[in-house]
Amino acid sequence: MSRCQRPLSQTVAAVPPSGIRRFFELVSQMEDVIALGVGEPDFPTPWSIASEAVAGLKLGRTSYTSNYGLLSLRRAISRHLQRLYQVTYDPEKELLVTVGVSEGLDLALRAILNPGDEVVVPQPCYVSYVPGVIFAGGVPVPVETSVERGFVVSPEQVEAALTPRTKALLIGHPNNPTGAVLPETTLRTLAELAEGHDLLVISDEIYDRLRYGTPHCCFASLPGMKERTILLNGFSKAYSMTGWRVGYAAAPAEILALMVKIHQYTMLCAPITGQLAALEALRWGENAVRRMVREYDRRRRFLVQGLNRLGLECLEPQGAFYAFPSIRRTGLSSEEFCQRLLREERVAVVPGNAFGPCGEGHVRMTYATSLDHLREALVRLERFLSRL
Ligand code: PLP
Repeated sequence: MSRCQRPLSQTVAAVPPSGIRRFFELVSQMEDVIALGVGEPDFPTPWSIASEAVAGLKLGRTSYTSNYGLLSLRRAISRHLQRLYQVTYDPEKELLVTVGVSEGLDLALRAILNPGDEVVVPQPCYVSYVPGVIFAGGVPVPVETSVERGFVVSPEQVEAALTPRTKALLIGHPNNPTGAVLPETTLRTLAELAEGHDLLVISDEIYDRLRYGTPHCCFASLPGMKERTILLNGFSKAYSMTGWRVGYAAAPAEILALMVKIHQYTMLCAPITGQLAALEALRWGENAVRRMVREYDRRRRFLVQGLNRLGLECLEPQGAFYAFPSIRRTGLSSEEFCQRLLREERVAVVPGNAFGPCGEGHVRMTYATSLDHLREALVRLERFLSRL
């Protein structure tokens, strides 16, 4: 017997594996590691939410749902978006329940891109954005942001990156990995660009509920933007439901129809158990979200203060649950810093360049872990720095 000798997909083979996963594999083989690498809430899903799913299982609710997702859930999502952002989506034509924002992102890109279409992607950004564009046949066009500007994208830079092939702008706010929340003024200028250059905007707002005093502006709520925005959001972060795999996309009906076409052939539907839990999250999960945000805020202040005290300059993140300190003063590259910190002190953090080349000189640390862990991580970090 011999292996097939034909070349596999060159497009896929050319994309490097996720920098986060690589570290995760290393960590899983070590003991006594303080893991600040993976962006996952440390709280269990609130029991009121989980128990609703258990009740569904007991009632034998284990079937497929509509391709679009349970209508009751889509109605609840529609009410939720209306209440928070005064933006109106038709639950029957403009909302799709997806297998996390991950699937929503993939569907959005595949539904809008023709081969060679360009997508402007401000960086540092979530690790899936660039590969997602490439897998969909598009060309990612990175635009760098910097710590000096608080990692807020400059609309002038975005404009300079536009070409006749630009189809869309892909933004994630609040931002993973920097914690930056885009001010409404910036978003309004991006909206003018989108209008003026006839662009679509994919807006990943999965961290919209995890903010620490700074308001969030839903991109689709800006004048004229609902018509050109694919809004992605989900339940993984705010409700601590990463493993349930439920998210949603809200988009103009003609775009959503194409997304549903891919979804119905590839996924059929999001898991019903997760959808039942998500429905409960929207009905009764608000207090749990507030409780978790209060706790993240305590940890955020503790970690950021600690990092600055150690001389690892860190902007105050306004959203999500990551700190993105500069490690430049150590003279190490992000990669070296992370490798050595893991090997020598067993603290796992992610190299900033995993989120784009302009993330070099930074590392990402999640504070979705207990204060005790953060305290111990800072002790180890101090020891590590004192040896350099
Ligand atoms: N978008 C961002 C910015 C993320 O940080 C993540 C997960 O870390 C995702 C999307 C994926 O979320 P989901 O669990 O809904 O697929």
